[in-house]
Amino acid sequence: MNSYRNSKYQATTNIVLCMVLIVMFASCEFSGRGLKTHDFPKPVDTHTKAIERQEKRSYHTEAGLTADNRFDAARLNNFVQINDSSFLAEIRPENQPVNNSAWYAFKLWAEDSATRYITLKYDGGKHRYHPKLSDDGENWLRLNDDALIYDSDSINVTLQVEIGPDTLWIAGQEIQDTERVHQWWEGLNGQSFVTIDTIGRSALGRKMLFVELSNGEQKDNDVIVILSRQHPPEVTGFLAMKAFVESLIRAKKLEAFLENHTVLIYPMINPDGVDMGHWRHNSGGVDLNRDWAYYRQPETKLVATHLVDWVNELQANVLLGLDFHSTYKDVFYTLDENEIQTKTIPWFRNQWFAALESKIENYLTNEKPAGLRTPVTKGWFYSQFGAEGITYEIGDDTPREDIKRIGKISAEQMIDILMKGNE
Ligand SMILES: [Zn+2]
Repeated sequence: MNSYRNSKYQATTNIVLCMVLIVMFASCEFSGRGLKTHDFPKPVDTHTKAIERQEKRSYHTEAGLTADNRFDAARLNNFVQINDSSFLAEIRPENQPVNNSAWYAFKLWAEDSATRYITLKYDGGKHRYHPKLSDDGENWLRLNDDALIYDSDSINVTLQVEIGPDTLWIAGQEIQDTERVHQWWEGLNGQSFVTIDTIGRSALGRKMLFVELSNGEQKDNDVIVILSRQHPPEVTGFLAMKAFVESLIRAKKLEAFLENHTVLIYPMINPDGVDMGHWRHNSGGVDLNRDWAYYRQPETKLVATHLVDWVNELQANVLLGLDFHSTYKDVFYTLDENEIQTKTIPWFRNQWFAALESKIENYLTNEKPAGLRTPVTKGWFYSQFGAEGITYEIGDDTPREDIKRIGKISAEQMIDILMKGNE
């Protein structure tokens, strides 16, 4: 009898316990808006790895030519003279394995003016970025094609350049180090609907920048998130992000758009990697755009936590994440609709791409859909928020005027399409 009563009691207790657990789980699901970890099909080890730090110095040669890497975003691992007019600039990545983003940046000057031959000698990659030249670090010109000679192995190249007493900057792309990016970010301050802020510091103490476009009443709003510069050399993607954000700020419909929307911008996610002249990784030797699962690196953790907290505090709803990058040609990496049904605006992407084609002369959208694989932001926006995620890639050599035009029109069309909704 006793044991019957006991087991009945036990059963009741179990049922109650189960119900409590179910309620807890359900409420967890319901309010499951905290930062989640995600098991992507192809996980990546993003624990901190060793990096090689380049020695910051001047290299003086007997031929009277000096090379120098003592500035932010520089990359020059060694510099040696071959003969009176030929020199080797050795370029290495911060660590390996690394995807081929062979960034270089250094200054040269000489006692006398003459034509010199500078070979970019890569170790751990091969030539990718067509050289840009500058005499002030601000205004850049593309080296003439006929002044660039490819080695027979297609790994190294030799530049034919005039070098004299005035400093000549040579870099893979226009230099956009943290100081220059800070100037841009500070310049946004004071414009209508713009708030600038920092969300913390990178591993080595550099500011993590944030920009909010809102009318001050963000509660329950739909949110668009913009990310940039996870990968240091991807300057063309950064230039597109700048054009995109500046066009949003200038858009005639911005005020109306901000009635129901807020735009959150993280313009420089890897400031340490940028200033250290890295090919791809942060100061922890990790590709940040593979860390959107367990947030092992401080920069991804800061951005992800800040965004999720912001959204939860204002009971807002992330619709869309745009992450700006660079690759060999313009491309939009999207989530494959056959594998993934985003919950927010699955209709947006096709309308947006069609609008770009109709508004930009001779423009064909190059869309590459794929399912969830590695822990990149595109998949994270979906896994974390059910949102649409698009990687906005600009070609390394896309003309800068085109980058501005595409950035502007894609911003204006995004506003138009999101305001109209799915008609
Ligand atoms: Zn990238």
